[in-house]
Amino acid sequence: MKIGVFALQGAFIEHERAFRELGAEVTEIRCRDDFSGRFDGIVLPGGESTVQGKLLREEGLLSPVRESVREGLPVFGTCAGLILLAKEIEGGEEAHLATMDICVKRNAYGRQLGSFVQKTVVGSVSNFPAVFIRAPYIERAGEGVEILSVVDGKIVAARQKNMLALAFHPELTNDLRLHEAFLRMI
Ligand code: GLN
Repeated sequence: MKIGVFALQGAFIEHERAFRELGAEVTEIRCRDDFSGRFDGIVLPGGESTVQGKLLREEGLLSPVRESVREGLPVFGTCAGLILLAKEIEGGEEAHLATMDICVKRNAYGRQLGSFVQKTVVGSVSNFPAVFIRAPYIERAGEGVEILSVVDGKIVAARQKNMLALAFHPELTNDLRLHEAFLRMI
């Protein structure tokens, strides 16, 4: 299984380690050339969505990635990655890949709850230690979106066809069950 991890900014090394541990072949994607190969799946890591969106545009990656995701390339978006996938960002900020029928709220938990860990059910995975860091949540989801996890009444994980999106950081734990779940989607 060949996984391309976007390595423009953010927590990409940890995703690479997780997928390698599961036996996948991992390549970093930093520029358009890197994206020209064949991938079974791609990963949009956590970090800063505004910076990542800007870099995707500057590297000429935004349109080709959007096209591939629309054509069905499996994508795993975590935290900032979820924001990149969203069709709508609350507050009127310009969307990035805009492939997933969700509206997200950025930095949604306020300052006191900037970072926290919460055990949660994610689809068929129970008791997952979800690490939230200045996390977004999904405010609205379209009909084709399957909601996988709700924490404190807020949607924090969802799937739409080939897109799996989490508001938290599964790569910052030793629990690989959600990385495994993504590989099973491929
Ligand atoms: N706050 C970041 C953003 O809005 C996301 C945080 C994260 O990826 N941990 O892009």
